[in-house]
Amino acid sequence: MKTFYDLLSQKKKKNILPIFGFADASDWGKEQKYPIHPDFYPTNVFPETKTVIVIGIPVILPILETTPSVYYNEHQNNLNAVLENEMVMLSSFLNQQEFASMPTARGGYSEMSVLIEKPAAAFSHRHAAYHAGLGVFGRNNVFLTKKYGPRVRFATILTAATQTELGVPKKKQKKKAGQKKKFEKNGLCINCMACSRFCPIQAINDDPERMYPAVKTDKSRCAAYLDELGKKGTSRCGVCIKVCPVGKDRILFDRRNIGIYDESKINSKKKEQLVRSWNHVRAYGTKK
Ligand code: SF4
Ligand code: SF4
Repeated sequence: MKTFYDLLSQKKKKNILPIFGFADASDWGKEQKYPIHPDFYPTNVFPETKTVIVIGIPVILPILETTPSVYYNEHQNNLNAVLENEMVMLSSFLNQQEFASMPTARGGYSEMSVLIEKPAAAFSHRHAAYHAGLGVFGRNNVFLTKKYGPRVRFATILTAATQTELGVPKKKQKKKAGQKKKFEKNGLCINCMACSRFCPIQAINDDPERMYPAVKTDKSRCAAYLDELGKKGTSRCGVCIKVCPVGKDRILFDRRNIGIYDESKINSKKKEQLVRSWNHVRAYGTKK
């Protein structure tokens, strides 16, 4: 009989869900390097939780580069919709298998004004991804993966099933633990500070010595800026994840040089073409 793990592996093979991972709910109490208040533990959202299932889809870099734009806005909405749908279908599948499960919310806030006042959701998908060995925190709240840098949207399902009941092979569980340790030891962030330098409102502290959680993004200011952009109908910024040099997607799209994002200096034919294309997309479909 096919297990839940087999189901996710098939989805990965077909590229329906390219990223997934598992963590034990008990990991939240153990980890001190990237602490989070116990209110945000999975068992405080669904007390029966034994396993946390994380799914993720990469953000497509050339669309992100047009930010702020209606293109990136629609892309964000589409990624969220796919993840919401997958969370519901996978939870429903598990419930039918007699494993009590529930999806969390992808975003988890009703409108930006709520985030400005209280800049957090009831559950952190990034901490779930960290415990699942999918990556590690970089500067502040940026969560980095090897393949896509910070350009991944995550979502989480909470279940009363154990990893063994879900069919997660023991060797995969061990590999994940090793991966997580490696990420913790070596990190992925190269402290280039591009995220801070390019942030349009300087919401990210630029002291390279101070990593998460010692310094965090000023989330209220960030949310206020996103709200401002949202009123024009554009995407909600994302510059910090656009400019981060980490991720192999930069090779695929030939975007290794992040100097291309300083749009005030046109110093090559390629940059001229890129900036022209971004400005073209930005000029349509939103309020001035
Ligand atoms: S989303 Fe934009 S405003 Fe917010 S921290 Fe990142 S770069 Fe700054
Ligand atoms: S842009 Fe640089 S400092 Fe910021 S998260 Fe990426 S690698 Fe780290």
